[in-house]
Amino acid sequence: MNEETIFSKIIRQEIPTPLLYQDDLVTAFRDISPKAPSHILIIPNKLIPTTNDVEEEDELTLGRMITVAKKLALEEGISEDGYRLIMNCNNHGGQEVYHIHMHLLGGKRLGPMLS
Ligand code: C5P
Repeated sequence: MNEETIFSKIIRQEIPTPLLYQDDLVTAFRDISPKAPSHILIIPNKLIPTTNDVEEEDELTLGRMITVAKKLALEEGISEDGYRLIMNCNNHGGQEVYHIHMHLLGGKRLGPMLS
């Protein structure tokens, strides 16, 4: 499973989607179906289908995803109250789009995730 998803088209802007951030490694845009007042997806420009496919050579990219999440949280005004970063993997993790992405969720108090 290494086929392009809609996210590759968003990265290349073949599907015009307002980008909140883009550099040589990562791209960020608002989730089309927000689950919180702020719901942003941060994705690698390189197609990595799941976190099972992350290689050592991707460590800089994965780190960049977090520093970009931090920057966007600050811009959204949600840093101080806090936020949640989530990456889903495969069926049991609830992954729908097979191009890894970090959800940045905030702007309200989120319920407990583990119970
Ligand atoms: O982690 P998971 O794969 O379930 O999340 C996929 C996310 O991608 C969903 O939150 C969905 O709303 C979002 N999405 C999007 N734009 C699309 C397709 C999916 O923001 N065109």
